[in-house]
Amino acid sequence: MYRCRMLPSTDTVVTYPDGDTHSLSTVLHTEALPDGRLAVLLDRTAFHPVDHTWPDQGADRGTLGGQPIVDAIVGATDGAQLFVGRDIPVRKGEPGWAFVVVHIVETPVSGTVEVVVDDGYRRALSAGHTACHLASLALNHALAGAWSKEVMVDAAGSPNFDALAIETSTILPDGSVDVYRIGKSLRKKGFVATALDDRDAVESAANARLSELLATHAAVSIERDGHGLADRRFWVCGDYRIPCGGTHVSSVDDLGALAIRLERTDLEGAVELVMTTSRR
Ligand SMILES: [Zn+2]
Repeated sequence: MYRCRMLPSTDTVVTYPDGDTHSLSTVLHTEALPDGRLAVLLDRTAFHPVDHTWPDQGADRGTLGGQPIVDAIVGATDGAQLFVGRDIPVRKGEPGWAFVVVHIVETPVSGTVEVVVDDGYRRALSAGHTACHLASLALNHALAGAWSKEVMVDAAGSPNFDALAIETSTILPDGSVDVYRIGKSLRKKGFVATALDDRDAVESAANARLSELLATHAAVSIERDGHGLADRRFWVCGDYRIPCGGTHVSSVDDLGALAIRLERTDLEGAVELVMTTSRR
């Protein structure tokens, strides 16, 4: 088994929130995973990993010291052991734990290594992620009249259907797919499910709002509490601020024209709504 040096006691410094696609990094620790591949921890990285607590944006593509990074996953360590992805037993911010980017490779590396991220793929995911946030604001706006009780609101002040009904969110190159479930608990919170009976009307209203958001030409940036992987980060677009750990474009003008498509499926005791956002 490859084990080198000690497990880090501080979070990996992440530079992808600033748009970095390249970093010169020091290898802090390497160990073999049960499948024989190697987990490599670095002091800093430009490589965006998938976070299994909310796996909306997948890992970047790219290389470490010239060899492909086959996957990158959020990990955590208490100094004695490395836990990867779903095996992490604590939440971010737990005292005594460091959250780290686990780069998975096939061959060992050591010393100072170059991380190179596939720039085109990153740009497409960043566009998809910003599009996803705008689409969720647009859908919340379109469904703002569908509530009979007061509920939490989104960054734009609309009842936050997206946060209350979301099941999964998947960021794709230049778009996203969000799956919502409207069941008993959402109806209890005051959501009037008949608002979805006219799917076309909701879809048109969401698209109209999305076009307005795109016409703002607003700048997009990431604000963060610190440079460690577990430090809180926020997507900021004009007046809107949403907690988010992903990567984004720098302006809504980078997105081009977008369209939202809604598909509704009736399940037993619930309705599933799938929102697909893509370039027109
Ligand atoms: Zn996000």
